[in-house]
Amino acid sequence: MTKKYDYIVVGAGLYGAMFTWKKIREGKKVLVIDKRPYPGGNIYCENIHGINVHKYGAHIFHTSNKKVWELVNSFVEFNRYTNSPLAYYKGRLYNMPFNMNTFYAMWGVKTPQEAAGKLEEQRKEIAELLRSQGVSRPRNLEEQALLLVGRDIYETLIKGYTQKQWGRDPSLLPSFIIKRLPVRLTFDNNYFNDTFQGIPIGGYNKLIEGLLSGADLQCNTDFFHERGRWEETADKILFTGRIDEYYGYRLGKLEYRSLRFEHKVLDCPNYQGNAVINYTDTSVPYTRIIEHKHFEQSYAYLSDPANGSDKTVITWEYPLSREEEGEPYYPVNDEKNNRLYEKYRELAAKEKNVIFGGRLGEYKYYDMHQIVEKLL
Ligand code: FAD
Ligand code: UDP
Repeated sequence: MTKKYDYIVVGAGLYGAMFTWKKIREGKKVLVIDKRPYPGGNIYCENIHGINVHKYGAHIFHTSNKKVWELVNSFVEFNRYTNSPLAYYKGRLYNMPFNMNTFYAMWGVKTPQEAAGKLEEQRKEIAELLRSQGVSRPRNLEEQALLLVGRDIYETLIKGYTQKQWGRDPSLLPSFIIKRLPVRLTFDNNYFNDTFQGIPIGGYNKLIEGLLSGADLQCNTDFFHERGRWEETADKILFTGRIDEYYGYRLGKLEYRSLRFEHKVLDCPNYQGNAVINYTDTSVPYTRIIEHKHFEQSYAYLSDPANGSDKTVITWEYPLSREEEGEPYYPVNDEKNNRLYEKYRELAAKEKNVIFGGRLGEYKYYDMHQIVEKLL
């Protein structure tokens, strides 16, 4: 029996969409299904009062790969937005990532030399501890953070945020999570080190629409509700849902961190003056407030009454406690979970017609550019 499609792609997130784009260019017939009512996965945007609201958390595209940048810009033009979040701790604001502005606010140091001296002094405590224990590398996120910036910044800007975000003490988390944050001796608040950075003008949906063009798309469709039917319909499957769910959790459940997004329209043109403000103190239950219009509207635009909307949309990001389940957003790549994932990967390697991909399929902390790069 000839099957109707060459591929069925389960999940219309960025991974599924990039894969589809590739296969369509190879002349394959592709059906894409997603259990959500719309494609895009976690980069889906909803237009509210002319503002593109990132419904599943703030998404900033950044890459140093020119080919990746050119490809995404061929579907939708990206603006020159630079992510420069602030961190709020007990009534004070600090610039992120860790740079001269942060060090000035924290210690009053005004030159790179002074800041370097202060950092050196702050790092001593952990360097001596590791040395006395004969350890050459930081063993967890807390040690990594202390080595990067020392105790003052760790206690103010990292410890509480991380505790809230991951629901456990930073000493129980892998160090790679914090290595993503730059430390700079310049007055540069750019959160990323990459050459290219921006937000698609008009939102991420245009990117996804472009990538899916030429494929058949069916939303509101959960693979597991009619698994047999979907397996029958195509020669091969790309599965971007949870790998443990694919195998009926037979070896156990992989752990994820989740978030609850609370969106609100406010009658105010400019609520917080920045797209992202992090709340690093554990006494505040959320981790970030996002004000979406700042991703796409410049200050000149906002301050011109002819343009500026008198409304704004903000989102509180609340981490979910371990007991609450929520959508699986962040794989918890600690040793226990990585070991379990390896076992699922061994099962997956035996599959002839099923490929697993993406944040859920590979249990991996992918940024968007890494997905585009991999599939290019
Ligand atoms: P997803 O987007 O999760 O897509 C998977 C899709 O599969 C979903 O649409 C889901 O509905 C569908 N699906 C699952 N199971 C089934 C099933 N059984 N049947 C049918 N459909 C199914 N990256 C950056 O580069 N910059 C950022 O600033 C950034 N910020 C982020 C902020 C947050 C809060 C989060 C969670 C992630 C962020 N990322 C960021 C990462 C980015 O979201 C991912 O790299 C990317 O979206 C992953 O794409 P994906 O296709 O692998 O997964
Ligand atoms: N982080 C922190 N304080 C902050 C922002 C981030 O301690 O104000 C830590 C935290 O552990 C987080 C990690 O850095 O999980 C990575 O942050 P990033 O903003 O890159 O992650 P995202 O949640 O956007 O993927």
